[in-house]
Amino acid sequence: NVPVTRVPLAPLLTEAAQLSRLGRKDADVRCVSHCPEGLEVVGNTQRLEQVFVNLITNAIDASPRGGQVELFAEEAGEQVRVRVVDQGHGIPPELAQRIFEPFFTTKQPGEGTGLGLALVSSIVREHGGSLEVDSQPGAGTTFTVTLPKALDRR
Ligand code: ADP
Ligand code: MG
Repeated sequence: NVPVTRVPLAPLLTEAAQLSRLGRKDADVRCVSHCPEGLEVVGNTQRLEQVFVNLITNAIDASPRGGQVELFAEEAGEQVRVRVVDQGHGIPPELAQRIFEPFFTTKQPGEGTGLGLALVSSIVREHGGSLEVDSQPGAGTTFTVTLPKALDRR
């Protein structure tokens, strides 16, 4: 049973960033979220939080010590776009298609299950959204999630 509601985005992103930092206590990486107040998406809070925890955790893992992960949320017509931006090691082009496969990981055993992005894609798809990745090896990676916007109350 997966309740679907209006989900305020700013607190969701802030909480996802905090949870991700807790899971990566030793990584010296800052997370900063830029989200307009009042922006709301439609979906399941827990599952949407999982999307951003997985993306932010990956971004932290890819980042150098002292690095920064930034989240940018904005309205895009009937949708909301959230970018998760890191300045980490990037994704080699030959791996770009494989990263969404269940159990695909480049991490050491015990450090990654390879399930994070597979779950992100299925949650985003079940919300009627979309997911894109843009990576520059050596310079960083941006994951862009698009989700349905909650209509303005009137
Ligand atoms: P896991 O994190 O357990 O390895 P994921 O499905 O979350 O599994 O990610 C799969 C792979 O995609 C990672 O092992 C890594 O190689 C790559 N990846 C995901 N996000 C990033 C990122 N932000 N920067 C660089 N590589 C990434
Ligand atoms: Mg992961």
